[in-house]
Amino acid sequence: MPGLTQVVGRFAPSPTGDLHFGSLVSAVGSCLEARNSDGKWLLRIEDIDPPREVAGCAIRIIHDLQRLGLVPDEPTLFQSTRLDAYQNAVDRLLESGFAYPCGCSRKDLPASGIYPGTCRKGLRNKEARSIRFRVDSGNSGFEDKLRGPVTATLAETCGDFVIRRADGLFAYQLAVVVDDDFQAVTQVVRGADLLDSTLRQISLQRALGLVSPEYMHLPVVLSAEGTKLSKRLQSDPVRDRDPAVTLEQVLHFLGHNPPPALTLELLWDWALSHWNHELVPRTNTTLPTLS
Ligand code: GLU
Repeated sequence: MPGLTQVVGRFAPSPTGDLHFGSLVSAVGSCLEARNSDGKWLLRIEDIDPPREVAGCAIRIIHDLQRLGLVPDEPTLFQSTRLDAYQNAVDRLLESGFAYPCGCSRKDLPASGIYPGTCRKGLRNKEARSIRFRVDSGNSGFEDKLRGPVTATLAETCGDFVIRRADGLFAYQLAVVVDDDFQAVTQVVRGADLLDSTLRQISLQRALGLVSPEYMHLPVVLSAEGTKLSKRLQSDPVRDRDPAVTLEQVLHFLGHNPPPALTLELLWDWALSHWNHELVPRTNTTLPTLS
């Protein structure tokens, strides 16, 4: 319909470990939220940090998603093909004064990890190592679709943050913002562990003159020990499980109660017609066991 922007959602895993139940929650939640509004759902492989990547992982993630019925509506975007666009964004931020070169190394940082702005006024004979984004001292905030208003003062929670690292690699915060814009993403649905990043991403979007998508942060899946499942810890790969049972479990985790023992196809049909993000719990929990 003319004048109406199509909803575009996405799932953007880093290939640093196999797909596990925690990341699958983001994949399913983002897909249902987009397709339930007749939107598109995209897949982006965030392969911009080779030292942390696991060989063969990107392809395994794509296959595992496919097996679960999660097939994107456009060809998958690989961030490793987008380095020029990230450099262009860094250059624009440097030119407009929103970013500056920093000569500090890890050992120059305070224990809090909050950058005190040492190189804001110049390098003072130090050699440039990374590029930092200048955060402003005021409050920043956004309206989370599930959690309501989220606010923080970036100057107090992280300080000026790195957008291009000392090893020359682009930071996740920068690449994600450039590509959400490039792919015309209108809604970002992902785990609540990325809430802090969202405020940084919104300030980058403002500095680059980009429109912010809407954000919804899903609960994080906890292990029996109460810690977040993590790809790096190789938690709980989903590959060896029955896809329909896995999807059923994800739906339960997201507050939905499909009829038991449906086939994968029927389960997707049910999920697409019953999805309601208001049912998604706000608190992080462990995996539900199915009776
Ligand atoms: N690539 C990030 C990760 O795997 C997530 C990016 C995002 O959803 O914005 O944790």
